[in-house]
Amino acid sequence: MATTETRTHQNYIAGEWVDAASGETFDSTSPADGELIGTFPRSGAEDVDRAVAAAKEAFAEWRLVPAPKRGEVLFRFAQLVTDNKVELTDLMTHEMGKVKAEAGGDVQEAIDMSFYMGGEGRRLFGQTTPSELRDKFQMSVRMPIGVIGVITPWNFPIAIPSWKIAPALVAGNTVVFKPASDTPALGQRFVELLDEAGVPKGVVNIVHGGGGAVGDRLVRHPDVPVITLTGSRDTGVKVLEAAADRLKHVHLELGGKNAIIVMDDADLDLALDGILWSAFGTSGQRCTATSRVIVHESVYDRLAARLVDRAEAMRLGPGWEDDTDVGPVINGAALEKIHSYTQIGRDDGATLLTGGEIADEGDLAKGFYYRPTLFGDVEPGMRIAQEEIFGPTLSLIRFRDEADAIRISNGIRYGLSSSIFTRDVNRAFRAMRDLEAGITYINAGTIGAEVHLPFGGTKETGNGHREAGQAALDVFTEWKSVYVDYSGTLQRAQIDNA
Ligand code: NAP
Repeated sequence: MATTETRTHQNYIAGEWVDAASGETFDSTSPADGELIGTFPRSGAEDVDRAVAAAKEAFAEWRLVPAPKRGEVLFRFAQLVTDNKVELTDLMTHEMGKVKAEAGGDVQEAIDMSFYMGGEGRRLFGQTTPSELRDKFQMSVRMPIGVIGVITPWNFPIAIPSWKIAPALVAGNTVVFKPASDTPALGQRFVELLDEAGVPKGVVNIVHGGGGAVGDRLVRHPDVPVITLTGSRDTGVKVLEAAADRLKHVHLELGGKNAIIVMDDADLDLALDGILWSAFGTSGQRCTATSRVIVHESVYDRLAARLVDRAEAMRLGPGWEDDTDVGPVINGAALEKIHSYTQIGRDDGATLLTGGEIADEGDLAKGFYYRPTLFGDVEPGMRIAQEEIFGPTLSLIRFRDEADAIRISNGIRYGLSSSIFTRDVNRAFRAMRDLEAGITYINAGTIGAEVHLPFGGTKETGNGHREAGQAALDVFTEWKSVYVDYSGTLQRAQIDNA
């Protein structure tokens, strides 16, 4: 049983807990064992409209609250998340399915991000620069934009909302938040803690419901100038199209098909640990998960054999049990999709080295479990090496020389994370330069981002924005350039100083 009481929840709009206008609801259940986590409002356009109206009204005042004071609310929130870390971690193992250590890491990321962004309240740096004219001062300042539509996935159900909501708030915006339908209880707890931290009424609102109803309405709403979405590439394209009419700012963090390159001089023990952690952690359901290993032909057989042994020794089970290595995948549709790629891999001529099965012995039959799966003899163009499977399926690809390895790593539509294991500093620096990705790790797997550096990807992983670090502020602010002429005369730039 989850420690959080199972109950019926409501939307939070204008500081009030309210049902969906339709009165309809949906259930959140555990992917680990089918347990009922809670019941949530199945909202629609009317609920979104009310939340946006509340956020718009609250913006008029929140934008004027001094930024350091807005930051103090985030400090209080970060402390509350810290105080509730054990409970949130436990709830995450039940509602989303991650194993305990990773669920704790997800919560910790929100704590780190909220403290970090709270500190931005005393920075939000702009620039001052000399004028080309006498007796004239000039500077640039960050301005809040308005109501931010926040749409998040289920795979980092506490961390990702913090990546978006913390910078949005410190910059002076207000928020309408639609969490993923698979993890509404975690979204709910996030907002309850913000409320407890003292966020004024209407500044943060949560509207539960489906992407097609709540998400789409938010994206199209005329009073929501910014949409920030983390999700799949297909959803990103839909959102971009829906927002185009009103030329909204759209911030997209989408899929990945991340690779680890293992050179012939790599520390193989280290590479093995990095691969297993990156490929099978969170059951492969991270945007930065490793789904391809590009390995030098001279070490291919040794690495493949050791990977098979280690993958087969991994214990599947519910995330809350201490000895579980791999938890469930998120739902039945995901399980079917992952399993269908095993057939696709076989049909395309790859060799199934281990796994490739739904795990349903004993209590596992109550949930959605898939065995860690390893394909060998994979060619770079095969579908299992090109498409995001978002499960515990890993492809091994051979290479002969370094240029080949980089080309294979780059030969995909996505550009999120990348990695190389080598002891040669020259090779490491060439990889840092040539890998087409927003993130490159040297001698580590493809996961492990920290909150104070930019996070995001190149190519079709996104549309050029970044979360985290100071880069996140660019999504949630507009630059204003201010010129102050104290000469008492009309001075014309580009003309009077020529
Ligand atoms: P998803 O199906 O695209 O859903 C993401 C969010 O968008 C959910 O809240 C969903 O609502 C909503 N949505 C769906 N259709 C919509 C529409 N037409 N308009 C507006 N909103 C809509 O993705 P997911 O399965 O939750 O997450 C997995 C994906 O996220 C993977 O592709 C992964 O790589 C990516 N991801 C990327 C990053 C990154 O930073 N680059 C991080 C984590 C995950 P419902 O839940 O109600 O369907």
